[in-house]
Formats: sequence, C-alpha cells, structure tokens
Amino acid sequence: MVKTKLKLQDKLPLTCTRTGACCHGNLVKLNPWELSILAKGKKMTTREFRDLHTEFGGIRLKFNGDTDSNGRKSCNLYSHNHGCSVHLSRPLACRLFPLGRQIQSNEVNYIYQGEEFPCSIGCPDVVNLPYLSVGEYLEGQETKYFEEAQDAYLELMQNIADVAFVLLLDSGLANSKNHETLKEWRKMGIESPESLVKIIGNEWLDHLMLPHITENLENPILFAQTHNEILQERVQEKFETLKTNQEFHEAAVLIMGMTLYLAAAIGANPKNLSEYWIDIAKSHGAKE
Ligand code: SF4
Ligand code: SF4
Repeated sequence: MVKTKLKLQDKLPLTCTRTGACCHGNLVKLNPWELSILAKGKKMTTREFRDLHTEFGGIRLKFNGDTDSNGRKSCNLYSHNHGCSVHLSRPLACRLFPLGRQIQSNEVNYIYQGEEFPCSIGCPDVVNLPYLSVGEYLEGQETKYFEEAQDAYLELMQNIADVAFVLLLDSGLANSKNHETLKEWRKMGIESPESLVKIIGNEWLDHLMLPHITENLENPILFAQTHNEILQERVQEKFETLKTNQEFHEAAVLIMGMTLYLAAAIGANPKNLSEYWIDIAKSHGAKE
C-alpha cells in the first residue's frame, strides 16, 4: 500500500467530522500500558477490561458493536449516541488516526496510507473543515505519553528478545545438535496472535498483559520499566533451574513467542523481526 511520509508542518484536512466512521471496521492495537489506562478509564480491573473489550489476550480492541450502513461493526467502546466511551483514555492508534507512526533507523515518521487521504473515504466533508498541520494535530490529540509508551514497549520487546538469545546461545543449546529452536522461531513469526496466545499460555500472557502495576500509571516510561523488572524476575524464578537442552529449547521458544506477541501489539512486523533475530542467532552459531 502507498505510504505518504509527512512533515510536522504539512497541512492536511485533520479536523474531525465526528461521525465515528473510523470507529467502525477498524483495527486498534493496544500495548500493556494502554490496556491499564483504558481499564482505569472504565473503572474496571485490567483483567475485567481485557475480557470484556479486547481479543487475542488484550492486544486488540473488539469490533463487535452495532453495524453501520457499510456493514462494518463498531468498536466495542463506541456508543451511537455518545461516541467514544473512553475518549480521554483512548489509545495511540485512535489518537493518531488517520495518521500512522513509524520508526526507521531510530527516526520517527508520521505517515498516512493509501492513494487517498484516509478520512476522505468515510468522511468526504472533512475537506470543508479547517486544515491543521501534523504538529498541531498531534498536540491537540495529546499523543506525547502514548508515543512514549510505544517507544518504551519497543525497548521492553528487545529486552525480552535478549532473554530468548541468552536461553539459546549462552545455555549451550546453540552448540548442541539443536535445529528445532530457530525453526520454531520462524514458524511463530507467521502465526496469528490467537495461535501465539496458545503457545504463550495463560500464566505468561498475564505477566505480559496484566502486570499488576498500580504506581506510576500516569508515567508510561516508569510503568514499562517496572513491567520489565517484573518480567525479568519471573524469568529468573522460572528458568534458573533449567538443566536439559529440551528445557532450554522450550523456554527459548516460549520467550520468543512472547516477544513476537508483543511485537504484534505495538504494530511491529513479527515476521520481519523473527527473520532478523534468526539471522543474528545463526551468525552466533545457532543452526536451523
Ligand atoms: S474518519 Fe477522520 S474525519 Fe471521520 S470520524 Fe474518523 S478521524 Fe474523524
Ligand atoms: S477506543 Fe474510542 S476512538 Fe478508538 S475505536 Fe474505540 S470508540 Fe473509537
């Protein structure tokens, strides 16, 4: 799909018509901090919110509400009369729409996808409303903390991947006759989030999506740092007694499964990432 890269000063039809068109038939991904923020906004526990409003273990909002005239289901949190029921807590994807955010070589780019400006498809009147610069739009949508959360979880994802590398490379597994671990990593790169949930299992999924952090909820960077510490402690507890290659193999697959699941949650490409990490592992002697 065509991607248009934007500058902060570019002016576009970014004043919303408030028809709720993009709250129908869309795909909204969530990172663990956003899940906690949404739950707080709805005065629910994170587990209650996850079970009621999300799918695939909490990384996507459910779109199973009323159907619009184009046959598209609304977001589970959308009300026909009142609009978004979590407006103040809405996730980054909703704040950015119709824009997207990409990181390439540590540089953040804002984009929109498709030949046409996305809003003009569902909301043609948008071109008659005031144009805003990309910078003005981001400020008005208060994306700052939500962008910080995305970046913090990108870092956390890399930290978990590092654990998978330790289990594969530092355990001696890569130097054994093992060819299975990288095969599993490759397979998981193209698995659906639903299948990854099954591979990860409920206990680790809860550690990943429902970390029970009550402090620093307003600060996504501290939240993600605390989450990282919790995950590292769980890893230490569970894996410090591993002895056999089979045990290291299973642990390396589980942790890579969690990494790729989190990649899907933050909009990274699990297939590309798994291939990238497999190449790195091979360059350190692992076999496939
Ligand atoms: S498609 Fe664009 S203009 Fe229409 S409701 Fe969504 S953000 Fe607003
Ligand atoms: S969270 Fe709110 S803004 Fe986002 S899709 Fe759902 S109803 Fe729309």
